[in-house]
Amino acid sequence: MAGADRRRPGGVVDSPSVSAVPVEHVDGLQAYAAEVAGCTRCRLAQGRTQVVFGAGNPRAELMFVGEAPGFHEDKQGLPFVGQAGKLLEKLLNGIGLQRDDVYIANALKCRPPGNRDPQPDEIEACESHLFRQIELIEPTVVATLGNFATKLLSGRPLGITRVHGQEQETTLGGRSVVLYPLYHPAAALYTPAMLKVLESDFARIPELLGRALVPPEPELALVPEPVPPAEQLGLF
Ligand code: URA
Repeated sequence: MAGADRRRPGGVVDSPSVSAVPVEHVDGLQAYAAEVAGCTRCRLAQGRTQVVFGAGNPRAELMFVGEAPGFHEDKQGLPFVGQAGKLLEKLLNGIGLQRDDVYIANALKCRPPGNRDPQPDEIEACESHLFRQIELIEPTVVATLGNFATKLLSGRPLGITRVHGQEQETTLGGRSVVLYPLYHPAAALYTPAMLKVLESDFARIPELLGRALVPPEPELALVPEPVPPAEQLGLF
């Protein structure tokens, strides 16, 4: 899939709109979401309010994969809507992207009770949903947030402290992608040192997407007005 037609000249991804997103991407992903909505492959089906499939641009170049829905995500049916989601959004804004420019999903689609860690059999039962999502979205960069998503998608046991910020080429959903492990924003919320590392790892995402970082818009108030010569002011 060509990537160039979804970028604006400034290197920013266009937000999805009905005309910008080929119908097969939307249809394929929506159809798959509808199928997964009734999933009963593991015990988490019993306690969930709903399946949290994922959200964002169906043909995003950049996809994030977190751990599992929490309380708010389970209620709203959307990933990363709590405090960790707010931080994720802030980090995205810092590199010139909006939430709608990217696709956000989790390794598990259903909330583990009490937000406990995902269990190996739950990850195994759910992983083909994630692989199918990646296949349908065709991202070029997949950023994993935290240990569970990183270990699952890298296929290696190395923890996030060892591998964060180190991109690797891998094959996911039948295509070559850049896998980019990051600290989980929920962990960074309460650990300033981790937040600093997450920010600096995030700053490399534009480079991994093969584009220049978009400088923030200048604030209007900071743009100096031209000062007319004194005689035009009628002061003398
Ligand atoms: N943490 C996650 O890993 N995923 C969410 O959707 C929310 C918090």
